[in-house]
Amino acid sequence: MKHIVIIGAGFSGAIVAVHLLKQPWQEPVEITLVERQNPFAQGAAYSTENPVHLLNVTAGKMSAFPDQPDHLLQWLKKQYPVYDAASYIPRMIYAQYLATILQEAEAQKRFNTTFRKIQDEVLALETANESQYLLQLKSGHSLTVSAVVLAMGNFPPTNPTFIDETLLHSDRYIQNPWHQALPNRKEVIHHQPVLLIGTGLTMVDKVLELVESGYQGQMMAVSRHGLLPHAHPSVPEPVALTFDPLNQSPLALSRLLRKACQECLNAGGHWQDVISALRPFNQVIWSGWSLAERRQFIRHLRPYWDIHRHLIAPQIGSQLDALQQSGQLKVYAGRIKSMAIQESKAMIRMKPRHRSVLVELEAALVVNCIGPDTRLDKMKDPLIKSLFSQGLITADPLGLGLLADQQYQVVDKTGQSVEGLYAIGPLLKGLFWETIAVAELRAQAVAISSQIPAILAHQPQGVAISS
Ligand SMILES: Cc1cc2nc3c(=O)[nH]c(=O)nc-3n(C[C@H](O)[C@H](O)[C@H](O)COP(=O)(O)OP(=O)(O)OC[C@H]3O[C@@H](n4cnc5c(N)ncnc54)[C@H](O)[C@@H]3O)c2cc1C
Repeated sequence: MKHIVIIGAGFSGAIVAVHLLKQPWQEPVEITLVERQNPFAQGAAYSTENPVHLLNVTAGKMSAFPDQPDHLLQWLKKQYPVYDAASYIPRMIYAQYLATILQEAEAQKRFNTTFRKIQDEVLALETANESQYLLQLKSGHSLTVSAVVLAMGNFPPTNPTFIDETLLHSDRYIQNPWHQALPNRKEVIHHQPVLLIGTGLTMVDKVLELVESGYQGQMMAVSRHGLLPHAHPSVPEPVALTFDPLNQSPLALSRLLRKACQECLNAGGHWQDVISALRPFNQVIWSGWSLAERRQFIRHLRPYWDIHRHLIAPQIGSQLDALQQSGQLKVYAGRIKSMAIQESKAMIRMKPRHRSVLVELEAALVVNCIGPDTRLDKMKDPLIKSLFSQGLITADPLGLGLLADQQYQVVDKTGQSVEGLYAIGPLLKGLFWETIAVAELRAQAVAISSQIPAILAHQPQGVAISS
């Protein structure tokens, strides 16, 4: 029997599994979905149980299937009729939607398809023979398989080098904000100051969580530019692009974009609609740039791009404005120089942007909100290390993930595509740039799952071993 393993059961892994379960397999096949930590079909984004964590895209755009744009809306109509296409639904409800899809696909699978969900971690992957891979699981089991999909998604943030060991190993520091809830922390209960490293979407999540728990203390958020994500307009109005976005350097494109946004504003529209109109071109723009141009974009434009492209729900935008106005949330633009424990508190030394003096801040709790780690070659993740040691993957030169071909098969250290070894989603940021949100992931899941049957068809029979 041919055996396919999907590593990671967030949105990407779960939806690949759904499509594979729907394939009209000609011969018996076993599909295994392995997840190390989160409930199945949730991942880092949707495993939250906090109703204040909303999707940052309207429900009308979050169908799991590219060819059925109303799929989520139909489900909401039955389950949560209070929501419509313009709603920013809680992410925990979106998790229910994904779980339902997976359950339904499992229930409707064909007679010759076996499906297993395993709560375990894949620690190592090596080539077993010409057409098979051997996977080692943390539990001690191993699997011999014909095709693998790496759907490992967003890796936890790294520890910034300015954090002293005293703080790093203390209970005053939270490294992984997606897996450690804040409201039951004693510092929070006693309303002592909290410092958040980073001012992006993760910081927004943590601020909302604190406020919702009744926290009344001081929240401080620091990033180099001190830029917060912008909010979606209450009523988006689709616009057409008034310029050619292709074959432009990053700087030329940013100038054209700013001009088009200003014109849109002058005409009474929303600049956000211009950024949305650019979205279908983002992958092509990125692919057309040289390595030097990509580097230029990352170095000079990325912080501005991120806050204009990754928007928050309008109601969350208003809440953040109110928190800043009341002074409960202070946002600093600056470079943190050091963080260490002093007299049982975290002491932070920061150089504010465009100033030469150092400022000292004090916090009872520090939360790492710098965003997912993408430097695979520096990572301690056992599976990533194993893939590198086998020469099966190559790091993207800008540290944005791994290299893959246009069919989503990873590229090994000799530059060859590795047959039957696929990657999806955030791992492909270096290749596509625009590859972390549902709109792109659902299309990638279709493409990968439709290629696997052809790859398996010309391989010899494999045996799934569990030991
Ligand atoms: C907080 C947050 C909010 C977001 N909100 C939105 C939104 O509103 N709309 C939108 O379009 N996008 C949103 N995103 C973007 C998000 O990246 C995608 O929507 C999607 O959730 C990514 O899914 P994924 O399966 O690729 O990765 P992940 O969700 O990260 O899932 C990967 C899974 O793989 C597992 N895993 C990793 N390694 C192993 C291993 N060796 N063995 C076994 N299991 C392993 C992990 O435990 C994890 O559960 C959000 C992202 C975050 C972090």
